[in-house]
Amino acid sequence: MKKMVKHVGGLLLLPALLAGCVGLNQEGTSGTANTVQPAVAAQVKNPAAQITEPKQETEKEAKPTQTEAQKGDWVAYKGPVEHIFFHPLIAYPELAFDNDSMTKGYDDWFVTVKEFDHILADLYKNQYVLISMDQLYELKTVNGQKELVKKQLMLPKNKKPLVLSVDDMNYYDYMLQNGNVYKLILDDKGRVATYSLTPKGEKHIAYDNEIVPILDTFVSEHPDFSIDGAKGTIALTGYQGVLGYRTNELTSPAYEAEKADAIKVINRMKETGWSFASHGYGHRDAHKISYKSLVEDTERWKKEVKPLVGDTLIYIYPYGSRVDTDSDKYKYLVKAGFPVLCGVGPQPYLKYKSDSMMMDRRHIDGIALKTQGDKLKGLFDSKEVIDSVRPKGN
Ligand SMILES: [Zn+2]
Repeated sequence: MKKMVKHVGGLLLLPALLAGCVGLNQEGTSGTANTVQPAVAAQVKNPAAQITEPKQETEKEAKPTQTEAQKGDWVAYKGPVEHIFFHPLIAYPELAFDNDSMTKGYDDWFVTVKEFDHILADLYKNQYVLISMDQLYELKTVNGQKELVKKQLMLPKNKKPLVLSVDDMNYYDYMLQNGNVYKLILDDKGRVATYSLTPKGEKHIAYDNEIVPILDTFVSEHPDFSIDGAKGTIALTGYQGVLGYRTNELTSPAYEAEKADAIKVINRMKETGWSFASHGYGHRDAHKISYKSLVEDTERWKKEVKPLVGDTLIYIYPYGSRVDTDSDKYKYLVKAGFPVLCGVGPQPYLKYKSDSMMMDRRHIDGIALKTQGDKLKGLFDSKEVIDSVRPKGN
């Protein structure tokens, strides 16, 4: 596996991530150019649930929100906004670290369940609170022009905001063989669970081996870890479906059922504090591909994935490979309905333009845990976090 490190705009971007670089072939794009229309933010209304004590998540009370009275002494937050991202968790380390050709990739770019649990506990202890991206901006129409303006973030005193995102929660074919779960499902109580086949081939439904159900439980037990029930943003491609449903197989007899099941999970996640972002259709490198290819890829995402996840303003660059803000590609992405663009960088970076916003994210993975402990110190203790199940001497 090649390790690619690139410098874009002076920032050290992380080694090429995942999908495209772990033996996957992206499909060619064949999307036709639709009329480009700015998307409108999907606003999920919070149930006015009063949180006085931690409660079990139920169907009705999915998303804990702070009451207006509790918000009375909140203060305007002026500091940096951390944004960290993960890939789907390693649920079965014995498959991830089995010394096959993918082992190094998994060691570099993924974290284990144990590591994620430890990170979460540290973040909570270190006074971080989860916010959603849309708590940072507002879209306004001024003289017929869409403008994206900064929104003042209000937080409880001494708390620090944290945006969390998860890339490639598609459960690509290679992931099923290398220790990730197979798909997200809904149980009969409306809770999100994971489904997988264990290394022994047994069906396994769990709540404790992937970011979504782990965070659902954590926030339910610690409502003060989240502002208005915010959890994370899921960045999805489309070329092998979403969340483990092969919604890319448009002519398959299973297509309608796959699509309906995916939408059920997605809608429940939106009700419970999760949001979604485009990660391109084919996980293509926006910086490298032609303008035409970027347009085709983006339009195909809008045609195939947007009907599943709904409107989103967020585009998360595959490989963290962002395009220059003066470029036609950038202008296109903004006009195509993605005025919130996320790259990858070694520290918090948030910049507002009149029509768009750029935010960098830190990659939290094996490379970061092993080599960026100092930079990550304020968030969690990398040395303590590293799971002993990782291969030695890598
Ligand atoms: Zn990716």
